[in-house]
Amino acid sequence: MEIRNFCIISHINHGKSTLADRFLELTGAVSSRKMRPQFLDMMDLEREKGITIKMQPVRMEYDSKYILNLVDTPGHVDFSYEVSRSLAAVEGAILLVDAAQGIEAQTLANLELAREQNLVIIPVINKIDLPQANVKQTVDEIAKLLGIKDEEIIKISAKNGTNVEQVLKAVIKKIPGPDIKKEESFRALIFDSTYDSYKGVIAYVRIVDGEVEKTDKIKLLAAKTSADIKELGFFTPEFSAQNKLSAGEIGYIATGIKEPEKVKVGDTIMMSNTKGQMLNVKPLSGYKEPKPMVYASLYPENPDNFDLLKEALSKLKLNDPSLVFEPETKESLGRGLRCGFLGTLHAEIVSERIRREFGLDLIISSPSVVYKVDNQFVYSAGDWPKTGCDKSEEPWVELEIITPARYMGKIIELLKNLRGIYIKTDYISSDRAVLVYEVPLREIIVNLYDNIKGASQGYASMNYKFWGYREVNLVKMDILVAGEKEPAFSKIVPEEKAFAEGKVLVKKLKETLPAQQFSVALQAVIGGKIIARETLKARRKDVTGYLYGGDYSRKRKLLEKQKKGKKKLKEKGKVRIPSKVFLEVFKT
Ligand code: GDP
Ligand code: MG
Repeated sequence: MEIRNFCIISHINHGKSTLADRFLELTGAVSSRKMRPQFLDMMDLEREKGITIKMQPVRMEYDSKYILNLVDTPGHVDFSYEVSRSLAAVEGAILLVDAAQGIEAQTLANLELAREQNLVIIPVINKIDLPQANVKQTVDEIAKLLGIKDEEIIKISAKNGTNVEQVLKAVIKKIPGPDIKKEESFRALIFDSTYDSYKGVIAYVRIVDGEVEKTDKIKLLAAKTSADIKELGFFTPEFSAQNKLSAGEIGYIATGIKEPEKVKVGDTIMMSNTKGQMLNVKPLSGYKEPKPMVYASLYPENPDNFDLLKEALSKLKLNDPSLVFEPETKESLGRGLRCGFLGTLHAEIVSERIRREFGLDLIISSPSVVYKVDNQFVYSAGDWPKTGCDKSEEPWVELEIITPARYMGKIIELLKNLRGIYIKTDYISSDRAVLVYEVPLREIIVNLYDNIKGASQGYASMNYKFWGYREVNLVKMDILVAGEKEPAFSKIVPEEKAFAEGKVLVKKLKETLPAQQFSVALQAVIGGKIIARETLKARRKDVTGYLYGGDYSRKRKLLEKQKKGKKKLKEKGKVRIPSKVFLEVFKT
C-alpha cells in the first residue's frame, strides 16, 4: 500500500477537527456508533473548552490502496510548537480557511511553518454552508496569498461532508509519498510522547529509514539510553499494537523507560544491537526549542507534595515539550517550580492538566514576562533587587493583527493604550488589512486576544513574535492582605502603569476573595507607599438565628461573644486565600 502523511492546519475554529471527523467516517477508521464531533479532541479538557490542545495522529486506510496518516493540530498561538512538530512528521498540509472568517493570523503563521518544512500545501475553504460565508472573497485572498489559480482551491463543508472526498483525493494526488529507504539502518524521529505507568515513556515516531520489530532492542541517540521495546504500533487513533513499523510510517514505540527526562522530542531512535552499523547512523535534525514568553511559579497547595509536583511536570513535559521548569524557593509559599509558558492560555491549560491528570491543587504566581534589570534576567517579582537598580528593560514583540477594514478604527483605538509603536499596514485583499506594531509583550499577553475579538465581533485576530528588549522605568508592587504581604501577588510594573494596575488588582481581589469573619484591608504598595486600597467587608454570621421570642439580653450576649471571636481572628490576621482566587486575580 502507498503511504501519505499529512496535517490539517488553520486558524483556531476553522474546522480542522471537524474535517478530520469526516475523514475518519469516509475511511471507516471510526465506526458510526463510536463517532462524536471533534473525535480527535480526545482530552476531556479539549472537549470542555472546545479547542484542540494536543496534536493527534491517526492512521486510516482508503480504497484498499492507501495508508493515510493524518495529524490533527491545534490552532491557538500558545500551542504552535505542537504544529511545528507535527509538520516535521509529514509531507503535506491541508490549509483550511473558514469562508465566514477569511484568512486570519494563525492561517498565516501556520502556513509559514509549513513552508519552512517545504510541505505541499492543499488549500481548502470550509464552512461554505454558512449563510454568512463569503466564498468569493476567501478564494481571492487564498489565491493571492499562495499565488495560485482560483480553481485549485477546494470548497467544502466539513460539517455536512460536501466535497470532503475531493480533499482526500487531492491529498493522494498532490502530496508525495514518503521517500522510503527500507534497506537503510533503522532511524525514527520522536515528535511527541506520553507516559504510561506500565509501558513507560511512549514515543510518537515518524519512521524515517529501515524497519523496527517489536522484539528489537533500541537506543535513543542524544539521550544515550537503550531500551527493550515493550510494544509498538500505530494510532487508530487509540494505540493499536503491531508487529513492526517501516520507513514512511507514523506510529508509536513504548520504550519501558521510566525516567521521563530521558526521552526528548527531536531525538533519534535507532537499533542498539548492530555495533558496526551504529557508526553510520546520523541523528535526524530534531527541533528548535521554543522560547517561553511568560513565566509563573507553581506551588503545591500542600507543601508536602513538592516532589509529586516535580514528577507531574516531568511527565507532562513529555506530552507538552514547550513547557520548561526549574525549582525555586519562596519563604511564604515554600518550595515550588518556576515554569516558562508560551502564553497565558498555555499556563492555564498546564495548571488545569496538573490538577486533573495528577490530582494536585496548585498555587500559581502572577504570570510575568522576563525583565532585564542591570543586565540580569528577572523572572519574577521575588527576584527584584532589594537595593533598586540603574537600568531596567522589558521584552517587546512584533504584533500582527489581521482585521476586516471596517473594524480597523476600533482596533487602532485599542492599540493606543499599549505603549506600542505603529510600523505599517499591509493589505491581504481590498477588505482585509494586516496591522503591524511593536509593543511591550506584557501589554498583550493577558487580555488583548479577547479585546480584539470583542472589538471586531470575532473577525480580527492576532499573532506575535519576539522582537528584543527596550528600556523602561520599572517598579515592584506588593499586595497586602490584612496587612500581610502576599508574595505571590507581587508584580513588576512599568512606573507609569503602577497606579492603574494596583487599583485593578485590589478591586479584583475584593471581588474574588471569600468574605472573612472580620473586615480585611486589601492594599497595593510600592516601596512602602500605599497606592490603592479596598476593604473586604466582614461576613455576618447570624449567631442569634435559633433564638425566638424577645429575650434580648441573651441575644446581645451572643452578639458580644461573636464580636470577641472576630477580634481574636483579626489579631491572628491570617487570611487563607484559595487557589481559585490566585487564578482569577492573575487573569486581570
Ligand atoms: P478547529 O479548531 O479548527 O479544530 O475547529 P473545529 O473542528 O473544532 O470546529 C470549530 C467549530 O466550527 C465547531 O463548532 C464546528 O462544528 C464548526 N464547523 C466546522 N466545520 C464546519 C462547517 O463546514 N460548517 C459549519 N457551519 N460549521 C462548521
Ligand atoms: Mg481542532
